Amino acid sequence: MLVDVLGCHGGETPRHKTSAFLLDGRLALDAGALASMLTIEEQCALEAVVVSHAHLDHVRDLAGILDNRVQSGAGLLRVYAPAETIAVLKAHFFNGLLWPDFTRIPSVDAPSLALLPLAWEQPKSLLDGAFTVTAVPVTHTIDCAGFVVAAGRAGAAALGYTGDTGPTDRFWEVLDATPNVRLLLAEVSLPESQGHLARLSGHHTPTTLANDLEKLRVHSRIDTLIYHIKPVFEAETHREIARVLPSNVHIPKLGDRFRL
Ligand SMILES: [Zn+2]
Ligand SMILES: [Zn+2]
Repeated sequence: MLVDVLGCHGGETPRHKTSAFLLDGRLALDAGALASMLTIEEQCALEAVVVSHAHLDHVRDLAGILDNRVQSGAGLLRVYAPAETIAVLKAHFFNGLLWPDFTRIPSVDAPSLALLPLAWEQPKSLLDGAFTVTAVPVTHTIDCAGFVVAAGRAGAAALGYTGDTGPTDRFWEVLDATPNVRLLLAEVSLPESQGHLARLSGHHTPTTLANDLEKLRVHSRIDTLIYHIKPVFEAETHREIARVLPSNVHIPKLGDRFRL
């Protein structure tokens, strides 16, 4: 599985993009930078997106990519998320007010967007079996999923993606029970000096993630990439990550590619 880092930050500046990771050019984890980091051709080649939760930094580029795809004559984009998130996207995003209802454009019979619910903790086969995705509830200010994503073939690699979360339990249990996990994408948003804000907003500091990773028995064998660091506190958070998290934890850059 090829993992491309399109967006790995908790805020936006010219050097920072919000959460989006591309798997094999076909499936995206979150939609923070799908339009701003992909060419039109790459946007049209995308087949599906799994969305962790409805916060704007994770769904914002669904707006731009759908606009580009409709004009390009690209086919259906399947967007999967827990039913709670799908309901927010229908009521508040693709509602014909904030943005057009692309589930009816260009026509009701052949739309450019399908909003499809993922049942909690039920492995779902996507893209004709190329991937299996399991949504696991994590601990944020609104309903939010972490994902376990396995390549379709038996024995192939899997990865974990925490979504936005503070300290949580069930996600680590599910990841521990998954064979062949090779990569963990874990959120850290703020340094411990902003711990009060992190706790209020349902996010990790390096210190709280270090405590949480002790729940994951296989962690020492899995490379971990940190995403969702807030640009304003970037330098302080990087120093703290180097100090409190183990040596198999890394901070990716925009455009990085990992092969599992
Ligand atoms: Zn969030
Ligand atoms: Zn976020």
